Amino acid sequence: MNKRSIKADTIKMLLLRSGNKCSFPHCTHPIFNDDNLLVAQLCHIEGVSPKGQRYNVQNTIVENNSYDNLLFMCYRHHKETDDTQKYTVEKLKKIKKDHESKYFEKALVLLPTMIQQVEDEMNRYWKNLEELKNIDTTGLMMDINKSSSFLEIVEDINLQLQYLEVAQNDLSNSSNNLYTNTLTLFKKLNINYNKLETLPYYDNPLVNRDWELLNIGIPNSINSIQLWLKQLELKYLEEVLKNNISDNSVGFPKNRTDVNS
Ligand SMILES: [Zn+2]
Ligand SMILES: [Zn+2]
Repeated sequence: MNKRSIKADTIKMLLLRSGNKCSFPHCTHPIFNDDNLLVAQLCHIEGVSPKGQRYNVQNTIVENNSYDNLLFMCYRHHKETDDTQKYTVEKLKKIKKDHESKYFEKALVLLPTMIQQVEDEMNRYWKNLEELKNIDTTGLMMDINKSSSFLEIVEDINLQLQYLEVAQNDLSNSSNNLYTNTLTLFKKLNINYNKLETLPYYDNPLVNRDWELLNIGIPNSINSIQLWLKQLELKYLEEVLKNNISDNSVGFPKNRTDVNS
């Protein structure tokens, strides 16, 4: 048994008190559809890995996988509640409590296959995570040139940030074109997409996909890092001037013209 897995009894209890509905307020998305197929996700309030949402370093594995830290949500609301600014631990605990109190009395009829499906899904999730960790990254490692001067390192970071900006731009364009490209593909394959076109944009996952992340989140992060680098550079030059260190140790990169800006 996987040390991270959730106990069958916990899953059972969660399902019984779920009303077979996503826990998010007013969402009617089922956990199991009419064919008893799992169509929702079991979500952690406090994430299980340091990269997970609302990760709490003090939690044990058992606490992370306990009844109190888990709730069922549809894919959409799982994704939306990954916004940890908006959905804090307290807020999610309240969502869970409110939802469960509604269905506490009306127990769901549980089929054995339901618990099995949730377990399979969680195992798949962990397996994917493990595989991610095992990817051989040695080919991606870069040479670390220990003899680089401070300002050369700053310049290297700036260069990498420029690559990131280009990548962000490409991703943003590809997201903008996603819907049109999909329609073109449907046309080519003779697939009828009339219904897709009647959807409002907010119900269409192909429109404005990850818009905020691509157009606000990532550019803001890149800008902040560039600004901090500039400050770091100025602070460094200040120190150099104050302590009257010779030019050689400052190591101004060759062809550099903007050190005074
Ligand atoms: Zn939902
Ligand atoms: Zn999550």
